Amino acid sequence: MITKPKGCHDLIGLEAKKWRYVDSVIDNLMEKYNYNYMRTPVFESSELFHRGVGEGTDIVTKETYDFKDRGDRNVTLRPEGTAGIVRSYIENKMYGEPGPVKVYYNGTMYRYERPQSGRDREFTQFGVEVLGSNDPLVDAEVISIPVLLYKILGLKGIKVKINSLGDKESRENYREALVKYFTPQIDKLCEDCHDRLEKNPLRILDCKVDKDSDILKNAPKTLDFLNEESKERFEKVKEYLDELEIDYEVDDRLVRGLDYYNHTVFEIEASVEGFGSNNVLGGGGRYNGLVETLDGPATCGMGFATGLGRLIQALNLEEVQLPIHDDIELFVMYVSETEKKYAASLVQYLRANGYRVDTEYTERGLKAQFKQADRLKAKYLIILNDEDLAKDEIKIKNNKTKEEDTIGVDYLLYYLDEHLTEDDYDIPEDECQCGHKHEHGEEGCSCHEHHCHCEDEGE
Ligand code: AMP
Repeated sequence: MITKPKGCHDLIGLEAKKWRYVDSVIDNLMEKYNYNYMRTPVFESSELFHRGVGEGTDIVTKETYDFKDRGDRNVTLRPEGTAGIVRSYIENKMYGEPGPVKVYYNGTMYRYERPQSGRDREFTQFGVEVLGSNDPLVDAEVISIPVLLYKILGLKGIKVKINSLGDKESRENYREALVKYFTPQIDKLCEDCHDRLEKNPLRILDCKVDKDSDILKNAPKTLDFLNEESKERFEKVKEYLDELEIDYEVDDRLVRGLDYYNHTVFEIEASVEGFGSNNVLGGGGRYNGLVETLDGPATCGMGFATGLGRLIQALNLEEVQLPIHDDIELFVMYVSETEKKYAASLVQYLRANGYRVDTEYTERGLKAQFKQADRLKAKYLIILNDEDLAKDEIKIKNNKTKEEDTIGVDYLLYYLDEHLTEDDYDIPEDECQCGHKHEHGEEGCSCHEHHCHCEDEGE
């Protein structure tokens, strides 16, 4: 048997439905924020990531899927989304448009990591990039996107951490302070940190091996090295976050893994029991300077990415009920060939009218079809027989109460309209269709997509 590659997953069954639902919420949310969907190639020239993500990052030194194609070109499967978007921004001269350019992506990424819970070799990220504005409001807006997404989906246990690395000058001063601090004690840190000291000492603070060491804990803090301008900018970001009513904590050890960040960096953690150590749902930051690094004009940038696998894991752990269907509304049953032909057109007609319908395809007898309908969790069964059809009638049975009616075919849509809509979702009265629980009378539900029953009733 051929099995899937290590660290990859097949998306099937209920998980696939959840994933598609999350995708649809993302598309909807991005429309509200006025971000355009953008797709770039899954592989790019290796140089893009080596230059864009940074030679000194773990992602590039250890984790990229690099290979030569049949034309002897060095290509790399994308390990993250920003470099490709920036490459496309430059190549398509998007800087010529009145800015800022606000885009989002949702696609697979590839990193050759040791597979474990929350860490795969193929994984999916949803992310946004805003190019062409240095306004601190953009930083706050970008942070607000995953926060609102998680809220709409009904995820409660999240923690937003922010920090500032400052501008080029502040970052350089901080870098020097770190070199001075780490050099005399570098032998006490891991081999990789020796390398990092030279290439990018900020990355030592991100070290997975030494993360609990006192040396890291007592290291100089970014915020002590911000110049006045960077300090003011960070204050502005925090003010806007307060305006947006986003809870956050300042974590002055947060530096993020990639070379290109400056000013604002942030991460969102899942504080959900049972999540394990890979509990960062997503993160991002400002990358003024990256566009120039990739040969474009001086352009400011800000973005974030969230892993959909970890997000769905968090939703599962919190047992959030997503409004997805794991049932069908109707199962159409038949035995004879004339009934089958009728079934075929009836199924088509019902689907065209918006119902979730299935039928029999394997010549099972009626008894087995009843079983199949149960397996598919059909709410209603339509049982065709030639005698009824001769009178333009059909039998329809509620699969839960077992009540059965014989009705005129012309009446079917009215019948379904009356019987199906009221129990379409089994949502308790005090729960919005997005799974958001709230008290009757509580001011609005956070979810605008699936307005709650309370709002409907004007309570
Ligand atoms: P990063 O691009 O490393 O900042 O990661 C952003 C988010 O992508 C993380 O918080 C995770 O949710 C997700 N992510 C990153 N690497 C992996 C991986 N190897 N497997 C699964 N998800 C990942």
